[in-house]
Amino acid sequence: MNKILSVNAGSSSLKFQLLSMPSERVIVEGIVERIGNADAIYTVKLNGNKERTTLSIKNHSEAVQLVLNDLIKRQIVASLDEIKGVGHRVVHGGEKFKESTIITPEVIKQIEEVSFLAPLHNPGAITGIKAFQEALPNVVHVAVFDTAFHQTMEPEAYMYAVPYEWYEKYGVRKYGFHGTSHQYVSMKAAELMGKPYEESKIITVHLGNGASLAAIKNGKCIDTSMGMTPLEGIPMGTRSGTIDPAIIEFICTKENKTVQQVLEDLNKRSGYLGISGLSNDSRDLEDAAAEGHYRSNLALDIQYKRIADYIGSYYVYLGGADAIVFTAGIGENNARCREVVCDRISALGVKIDYDLNNRVRGVVTELSTPDSKIRVFLIPTNEELMIARDTMRLAKL
Ligand code: ADP
Repeated sequence: MNKILSVNAGSSSLKFQLLSMPSERVIVEGIVERIGNADAIYTVKLNGNKERTTLSIKNHSEAVQLVLNDLIKRQIVASLDEIKGVGHRVVHGGEKFKESTIITPEVIKQIEEVSFLAPLHNPGAITGIKAFQEALPNVVHVAVFDTAFHQTMEPEAYMYAVPYEWYEKYGVRKYGFHGTSHQYVSMKAAELMGKPYEESKIITVHLGNGASLAAIKNGKCIDTSMGMTPLEGIPMGTRSGTIDPAIIEFICTKENKTVQQVLEDLNKRSGYLGISGLSNDSRDLEDAAAEGHYRSNLALDIQYKRIADYIGSYYVYLGGADAIVFTAGIGENNARCREVVCDRISALGVKIDYDLNNRVRGVVTELSTPDSKIRVFLIPTNEELMIARDTMRLAKL
């Protein structure tokens, strides 16, 4: 039995899970938020209990020390030697990283080199990696990239039809995100269907605050909805998804804003929040829509239409589909979203059991009826587990 830490470090947060492998049992999980503040928050979940502490945490190194000391204090590990590997989620691997990799000084340099593509995300991950390497210098550290799974796309799918030099000089192309999640739920769907992953056609619908779809053929991603940044694709909690790029210049002129300000509007004040004027949370919008709030209903309809559009286009690009998988916060919990989307793609012969769909949340379920032409699944995502599995595999444990 090996204990593996799965880590997701952001600019001011550090999320972790300690897993027992190969049983894949979560021993403990937690998060340190507001790192760099006198009132940082440490939340730990153990045996079904959640504990929250507010304390001062100056930087990621202090956060890492706090977590590791706590594991010892609670006797979850007798000594840090019990932790055999640490897997780190890294958002952007550019074209450099096509799969997870053992972290060496050279790899850190390469992650830094592609960080211009994710300036809000990659620096936090690098800080987290360095802090954990300092605290656990003798174990294998592995980087797992959100973009890696999408690196199998063909140029026709990842290139934008813009001056080619933009790609050559600056790496302007589609990269896609949530790759670990798309890979995990598609593998699981193939397993549930009893089909070899390498002979399956699967459309995955990851609907959280951020949201994206992927078309996966024979175990390889051939298209995905997010782009060079997570702004492209379907509308999300606060992101617009794809829009006519000419709108940016138009609004800059009309509202006397900079491009950066308009991009902030598109990233933080659009999507559910922008259209509804109420909230970025799907639950609030469903409630308001049920009470007749026109703009909440519209925000949901715009998103559901776009999800159906992508599924239709991926169905064609894949040359058919064996399964459609819903996952992440909304995909796992919002029955109405799944129902409306499946109704909108009924032309593909998709049929789900409405009763069952209404009853389930957050558990692996086949939602389609036996006569549905495409099988529909709800599969909870588990990026932490994928990270731990890759860490085990690369560390040869
Ligand atoms: P993130 O991208 O931040 O990880 P999540 O996957 O947690 O996002 O998804 C957040 C979304 O999931 C929110 O819109 C929220 O309304 C929705 N969601 C989460 N839990 C539930 C639930 N129990 N019922 C309905 N919607 C939920």
